[in-house]
Amino acid sequence: MPENKREPRALAVMAHPDDAEILVAGTMFHLKALGWELGVITMSAGGCGSTTMSFEETSRTRYAEAKAAADYLGAWYGCAGLLDIEIFTNAESVRKVVELMRQFDPDVVITHSPVDYMVDHEETSRITRSAAFALAIPLYPIEQARQIAPAHTTRSTPALYYADPLEGLDPMGERIFPHFYVDISETIERKLEMLARHESQREWLRAHHGIDEYMEQVRRWAAKYGQECGFNYAEGFRQHLGHGYPHEPLLQSALKPKINTRRTHQ
Ligand SMILES: [Zn+2]
Repeated sequence: MPENKREPRALAVMAHPDDAEILVAGTMFHLKALGWELGVITMSAGGCGSTTMSFEETSRTRYAEAKAAADYLGAWYGCAGLLDIEIFTNAESVRKVVELMRQFDPDVVITHSPVDYMVDHEETSRITRSAAFALAIPLYPIEQARQIAPAHTTRSTPALYYADPLEGLDPMGERIFPHFYVDISETIERKLEMLARHESQREWLRAHHGIDEYMEQVRRWAAKYGQECGFNYAEGFRQHLGHGYPHEPLLQSALKPKINTRRTHQ
């Protein structure tokens, strides 16, 4: 057996606490059952997500909720420490995410759709795309790169996937269809249980958006995607197939019995 034999590692890199739960958790529970190692990174600790607590208190509360949610999934959790609304692609943000990524060392990275309802999500997608590419570049100048083991500096670029945008829609309200869907009928309850760890966000959405059904809304979205592909509940993904990124269908192969594409008559 090769010395570096290990289980595959999937990392969700999302903007805010609760985005991974809403967009990809059903799929991640499947990967966990297959023995994969999981990680979740959020760009911010969600410090603007309250109408009743201070920024600092909200950040502390939501960081703790995100950590508890990741624990429920059995995932490592890291936060890049950026601020809500001020998540931008620049040297500082890319370096922070590369440092966190190097700690987890992913084979598969899943991030937001490049086009999404909120700029924080779109910028997270851009930051993550750059960070994933930089991961395989040993001379990329982050402090940590000089301290890590040589084996890790020669690693390859991880496969990059995009989750559906929130509600599956671009900012014009048009559906962005995924390349493939994952059947999450077996994991939807655990996905919602993980989401329930974000109690403060549930309250914030109730106050800010007038939504009083945090989890039922996510269940409806998953059911809508399911209708497009013949599953009860589904999550959608696209793979980044640009030059320099792996084209091997790592997720599709691992989850093959649970994969479907869109019904063409819809
Ligand atoms: Zn978000």
